[in-house]
Amino acid sequence: MGKGKFIVISGPSGVGKGTICKKLFKEINAWYSVSFTTRAPREGEIDGVNYFFVTKEEFLKRIDEGEFLEYNYYNDNYYGTSKKIVLEKMEQGINVFSEIDVNGARNIKKIFPDALLIYIAPPSMDELRKRLIGRGTDPIERINERLSIAEEEMKQVGFYDYVVVNDELEKATKEVKEIILKEI
Ligand code: 5GP
Repeated sequence: MGKGKFIVISGPSGVGKGTICKKLFKEINAWYSVSFTTRAPREGEIDGVNYFFVTKEEFLKRIDEGEFLEYNYYNDNYYGTSKKIVLEKMEQGINVFSEIDVNGARNIKKIFPDALLIYIAPPSMDELRKRLIGRGTDPIERINERLSIAEEEMKQVGFYDYVVVNDELEKATKEVKEIILKEI
């Protein structure tokens, strides 16, 4: 039995990567790694499904105890991938996929050089702004912060294996699925 592959899906907030991942979830042979975060749950998000929501103190304790494969401080909050369970799954030959930011993706590539990195890009920054405003979950300052992070991130996507533009959800999902099926 071979080792499982780590599949990273990245992209700015509001690009639709969560929706794409949800659709893919049932169709690809991979286990979804639920990350830990210190940010507050958005409406409809469920602890243990979207994230494990923890306090900052708890997150820092987990860092000290070496529980994360990788973690990052992003827009005032910590986000991290649990080490133990991911390594166990991969040892069992199970592919793992997760939504991780650009810094995290770079770290994952260092740990697993054959990881598959896919970046979901918006058709334009204007469109991304519209989607974030339409989502209505963040105040305008937060949206502006997220947009400037997105701009910075998008300058760095050269190390990704694939960049998929989400101009149409069904099309982008199909494209990501085809890439994954080809690569795993
Ligand atoms: P959001 O707050 O919109 O759910 O996520 C913010 C950013 O954190 C997104 O780019 C998301 O992909 C990223 N993220 C989520 N989980 C992890 C993780 O475990 N590690 C890292 N490095 N980034 C993560």
